[in-house]
Amino acid sequence: MNERNVIYQKSVPGRTGYTLPDTKQREDDILAAIPQKYRRESDAALPEVTEGEAMRHFISLSVKNHHIDKGFYPLGSCTMKYNPKLNDKAASFTDFKEHHPMAPCSSAPGALRLMWDLERYLGEISGFAGVTLQPVAGAHGEFAGLLMMRAYHEHKGEKRTEIIIPDSAHGTNPASVTSVGYTTIQVKSNDKGVIPPEAVAEVMSDDVAGMMMTNPNTLGIFETHIKEIAAIVHEGGGLMYMDGANLNANMGIFRPGDVGFDMMHFNLHKTLSTPHGGGGPGGGAVGVKEELIKFLPFPVLDKDDDGKLFLNYDRPHSIGRLHSFYGHFANMVRAYAYIRNLGGAGLKRASEDAVLNANYLKELVREDYDLPYDITCMHEFVVSGNRQKANGVKTLDISKRLLDFGVHSPTNYFPLIVSEAMMIEPTETESRETLDYFASVMKQIAREAAETPEVVTSAPVNTPVKRLDEVGAARNLDVQYQD
Ligand SMILES: *Cc1c(COP(=O)(O)O)cnc(C)c1O
Repeated sequence: MNERNVIYQKSVPGRTGYTLPDTKQREDDILAAIPQKYRRESDAALPEVTEGEAMRHFISLSVKNHHIDKGFYPLGSCTMKYNPKLNDKAASFTDFKEHHPMAPCSSAPGALRLMWDLERYLGEISGFAGVTLQPVAGAHGEFAGLLMMRAYHEHKGEKRTEIIIPDSAHGTNPASVTSVGYTTIQVKSNDKGVIPPEAVAEVMSDDVAGMMMTNPNTLGIFETHIKEIAAIVHEGGGLMYMDGANLNANMGIFRPGDVGFDMMHFNLHKTLSTPHGGGGPGGGAVGVKEELIKFLPFPVLDKDDDGKLFLNYDRPHSIGRLHSFYGHFANMVRAYAYIRNLGGAGLKRASEDAVLNANYLKELVREDYDLPYDITCMHEFVVSGNRQKANGVKTLDISKRLLDFGVHSPTNYFPLIVSEAMMIEPTETESRETLDYFASVMKQIAREAAETPEVVTSAPVNTPVKRLDEVGAARNLDVQYQD
């Protein structure tokens, strides 16, 4: 029975879940203002239920989906850590929540101060001199960074057209490169899963505007040659962009700004525990070196002669505006609350625990799954389902079977350089018991794949819906209720 029927079957004429003051006169006035042809001919067929019934309906819907507040979510590269509710509480303070975005700066000193401090905290974590909070996703931050890269070269009177990207890069990297009108040169990782400097030297030229790197990379491996690579790119006149999506392994330990990167984006919705949301709203702040500050998107948060904060639009070299107002303010509040709550030592501990949890889990699953890069990992690691594939069980099947045990799938089929990839990121917020449970489920699925593969290939069986036509759902999106 579908959900629409459930709530409609509970409907009893005249039953309500609310009381309102008598608004009859007002309703009549409004009606009088609406021309007849636009009026509804009969009442909308809405279910008539009590508040309690409506609440149960929505709560029951909410637990049908898997989410981080419901179960383990080891989705590598996405850093699905638990989002502390304290952050939400801070974001819902009336003075933050109800401040109008069009209000003058003079009425928002607290909000501006929070943004100012957050910019400085992010600068301190990453080693960059200037930060913009405006971009609203990692990909948006990449776009902003590459626009600044282009502005930097144009300012010097140079026209460069290419960006170097590792073969393990996230898909947003080449997409952002194309969006700003550059082309991509791909370099290959070596058998240790890192980019060798020689590969960069080979393709570096006067046409190269810069290089994008992710560290740790999407294999969960620390790029050991960053300094040599940065020297090669800088020598050739290019800039170094760090994709900071994996910052969760780095806080308090490795600062990209200290080792040769010129700019990077943060994913507030990954590392700094703000919600991912269904495709947004996120937070893709960007940090830059001193000499790139003049290119930051406007408005830039600034102090006037009296030391008062204001949004400065007078920025002749700026790449311009990237979003309405100043990005997603409520996420800035959440990230700020998270940083203030943990403090420097707490952030460092979070990264250390994330790395420890990943290595612990790697050791637990290595017996049953192939480990293409068998070295100490950072906050995530990649296994291959090749052994299971030989028995007709694909990585997709393993992921579907995990749902039967109340666990979300790891990232599948990425990075592209590992066949049947499963990219596992437990994060620091999971207990040892949860990691042990996940490992025991992975072991059971490996056994099923060997002995009773049809159990895995026909999964899931315990979920509200079985296998869905995911491509169909994406291509022919239809969010209407159906009877
Ligand atoms: C998530 C991610 C991105 C893109 O970030 P969004 O916020 O999803 O746009 C880029 N690179 C890597 C490595 C990522 O994991």
